[in-house]
Amino acid sequence: MKIAAVEAFRLYPVAIKEAWVDDEYVWPSHPPAFLVKVTSEDGEHGVGEATSQQWYLGESAEQIEQCVRIYHDALRGADAENIAYCHHLMEAAFGGGMPGGRGARSGVDMALYDLLGKVCGAPVHTLLGGAYRTEFELLTNLYHKTPQAMADACEHFVARGFKGLKVKVGDVMLAKGWSRKHLRDELAKLDAALEVTPRDVYVDADANQGWESAAWTVSVLRGYAGYDNLSIEQPLHYADIQGAAHVRARSGVPVILDESVWSAKAMLELARREACDRIVLKLNRLGGFFEALKVVQICDAAAIGVSVDTNPYTRVGDTAVCHIAAACRTAYPVDCEGHESFLDWGREEYVRGGVSIRDGRAHLPHAPGLGVDIDWEALARHQAAGYGGASP
Ligand SMILES: [Mg+2]
Repeated sequence: MKIAAVEAFRLYPVAIKEAWVDDEYVWPSHPPAFLVKVTSEDGEHGVGEATSQQWYLGESAEQIEQCVRIYHDALRGADAENIAYCHHLMEAAFGGGMPGGRGARSGVDMALYDLLGKVCGAPVHTLLGGAYRTEFELLTNLYHKTPQAMADACEHFVARGFKGLKVKVGDVMLAKGWSRKHLRDELAKLDAALEVTPRDVYVDADANQGWESAAWTVSVLRGYAGYDNLSIEQPLHYADIQGAAHVRARSGVPVILDESVWSAKAMLELARREACDRIVLKLNRLGGFFEALKVVQICDAAAIGVSVDTNPYTRVGDTAVCHIAAACRTAYPVDCEGHESFLDWGREEYVRGGVSIRDGRAHLPHAPGLGVDIDWEALARHQAAGYGGASP
């Protein structure tokens, strides 16, 4: 089944998430987003999603679009059923030897798995080795700027049945630089969240690399030893493995790494140096299912937990999130509701099927491939409207 074309279709999402709307800090109001379509010479096709955040993943919409063109040239005529070799071709064409630049690759990868699943009549999680589960507890991200607003949001999502809350604790320092005062400002929001959150709900305090100092991180976290539902996520720079291991060994609070997990080889080094208790797995940072599955297997062997994350995505990408989460033996809450809570994707319903969020859980349908279909005419109308096509 030879590949005839690899195409990108620009999407125009508008942020509705708190702190993303006014773009005061680093979070984007209009993150780059594309659906990716891989078409075979016999007319079959698969769909994936390539999204990014410019400050966070270092990719603009123009870069992703150009990268998909590079992959089109590299993959035309290649066997779509040989996903390993397709990745070999893509890595040789762009960014195989460095972090970053993998959003487009993840979109092509998703489309290849979707195509293969449809042709074989199997869900993507079957191609990944099988599903431990197809229903998932949920995690959401909270960016609220005051302790009261953070506490209110925690109570709201706990009442909806969410079992994971990602409390952002790095924004002030990302915007204004590290200082003891800024750190205390962030901790006030965390304190408010912990105060109202029951112990059966995970609180993941995500610093997004903003806490700078391993010593200060250890010092403040020792004050949280009584909260056994708290973990600290990526307090230090993504390449500071020694610092992460130091925090893990000394703070008494489990360490999650997110930005550090950009390839299977990077994951192996994190495991070897005992730098984390859990990771956040992002398909767009890793380059898709093919690399993500290697990361999941390293974590399984090393007894490191896996939390799977949205970018945020449309329901296409969030359904892909659930397929890789299905292949994880550990069952941490999954962040796959970004298509509802982060972004307005426009008034056109161009994605059909896929994951559904109800009763406080995510439900993955049993269907070939990803389990989503695209209404291409509705998508064309969305593209014609651009950012003017937001929901009324
Ligand atoms: Mg994170």
